[in-house]
Amino acid sequence: MEEKIISVAIDGPAAAGKSTVAKRVAKLLGFTYIDTGAMYRAFTYAVIKKGLDPKVESQAITLIEGMTIELEDDGRVICNGEDVSKPIREPLVSGNVSYIAAMKPIRLALVEMQRAMANKKSVVMDGRDIGTYVLPDANVKIFQIASVETRAIRRYEENLSKGINTSLEEVEEDVRKRDYIDSHRDFAPLKPASDSVLIDTSYMDIDQVVDAVLKVIKDKTGVEACH
Ligand code: C5P
Repeated sequence: MEEKIISVAIDGPAAAGKSTVAKRVAKLLGFTYIDTGAMYRAFTYAVIKKGLDPKVESQAITLIEGMTIELEDDGRVICNGEDVSKPIREPLVSGNVSYIAAMKPIRLALVEMQRAMANKKSVVMDGRDIGTYVLPDANVKIFQIASVETRAIRRYEENLSKGINTSLEEVEEDVRKRDYIDSHRDFAPLKPASDSVLIDTSYMDIDQVVDAVLKVIKDKTGVEACH
């Protein structure tokens, strides 16, 4: 019997812990994890590297044609053949990615790639518009939130562990700015899908969030982790 393809969408604001949870859930279920934020980040890095202005659509869209972005199973992000895994997490990219992500032609190009990935295999895909726009028929939709203060502290600590030097104030400002731009853009803004399950992780640790997401997946699809 052919195995059914299942898609799990995890959306939510910046630094809500989506990628950590999505990665673990994907591993436990044997699904592929797709970090759509990394794709917008890779595009942004490519724009900056070319000396183009990430706030000017007419400049940024010139890179759409021929752009390749690969998400490797080991977490590496390859853009036009270059490993960009590290620079896409730097403040320069974080501070500009929401401008790039608000450009409709760029979203359309990346969404096409994302849909093609989810067509082939079972995925856990995280982002801002997965449940509302990229995969409106996803089997499971989660909207993961936490207070802005909690998210800033988590991202600040994550940055420190990766050797990225930023102050807590800078991180909080970046998170607030991205949330504002992401939820106010015209095309596919950040918002919960009407059929999503809301999980507030402010007072939960990662294991509790992973268990909560696995339970929703089991209830909706019957699929269970084998741990
Ligand atoms: O997930 P992450 O925080 O790395 O995403 C970086 C940025 O990419 C977001 O702030 C948002 O501007 C953009 N993004 C988006 N749609 C997605 C994923 C990310 O607009 N599906």
